Amino acid sequence: MDLRIVFLGTSAATPTDERGLSSIAIARGNEILLFDAGEGMQRNFVRSSLRMNSKMKVFITHMHADHSLGILGLLQTLSLNGRTLPIDIYGEPRLAEFIKYSTRLIGFGLSFDVNLHSIEGEGLLAREDDYVVTCCEADHNVTAYSFCLTELERPGIFDIRRAIQLGIPEGKLYKQLQSGMDIVVNGRMVRSSDVVGPCRPGRKIGISGDTRPTEKLSKFFENCDLLIFESTYAEELRHKAIENFHSTAAEAAKLANQSGARKLVLTHFSTRYRQNKQLLEEARLIHENVDDAHDLKVIHLPYRQ
Ligand SMILES: [Zn+2]
Repeated sequence: MDLRIVFLGTSAATPTDERGLSSIAIARGNEILLFDAGEGMQRNFVRSSLRMNSKMKVFITHMHADHSLGILGLLQTLSLNGRTLPIDIYGEPRLAEFIKYSTRLIGFGLSFDVNLHSIEGEGLLAREDDYVVTCCEADHNVTAYSFCLTELERPGIFDIRRAIQLGIPEGKLYKQLQSGMDIVVNGRMVRSSDVVGPCRPGRKIGISGDTRPTEKLSKFFENCDLLIFESTYAEELRHKAIENFHSTAAEAAKLANQSGARKLVLTHFSTRYRQNKQLLEEARLIHENVDDAHDLKVIHLPYRQ
């Protein structure tokens, strides 16, 4: 299944001429999973190739304005563009309150249903047939969460040549074998493992939101194919990172190493960095596969070989 990450906003705290506020979309098959909705993020949504009427879930890491205020504008824009499918929104309990209160106060009607889910603790948030989204407490100066999208294992590859050799007729029996069932053909037992290879791992993507690096998060992000981690500051401003409960690029890279992340993408940059050269250099000294995000950057994430 095709999976791409689209960065809709990559600036910390305030927007710049080149960067909007935090928002990351993961387009997976026909579904969009949105992580954070900073003010005005729907503008980049419109500019991207993301579709307004896709199945959609929105996860908000915390209630700071640069991560949550854009949710109203997003809902309004989706509605004015005729969205009909319901939308599921996950965040700490105040998010539901904020959305309910504001929509009533502003008095805008929506063309679709909004299902609000309050995050009351860590663990499983959403489950579909082939993936789960989980959350872990982050270390910020308000209640904040980090998220993981984890795809479930995929069945192994079906060896058609072997199946023909074994005289198995095409159709229903192929399906049974693929699903793990053993069958009997012409009085002979054929095990699923005779024709189906071992299960193949799905992909795992971690999203930090705003946080200090913690031991707990490095466990939570264990074995990510892609880790998207905030790097608000360069190493020379580590004291500011500590003071404001953020991370430096080097700290993000160190955590990515500890958790065994294959690729690290830095985002959420302080507006003092017009270019990310310094941040990238500092992170690349520690982790071998680091990239930086910019607005509307798209990353295609294939399955692990
Ligand atoms: Zn922020």
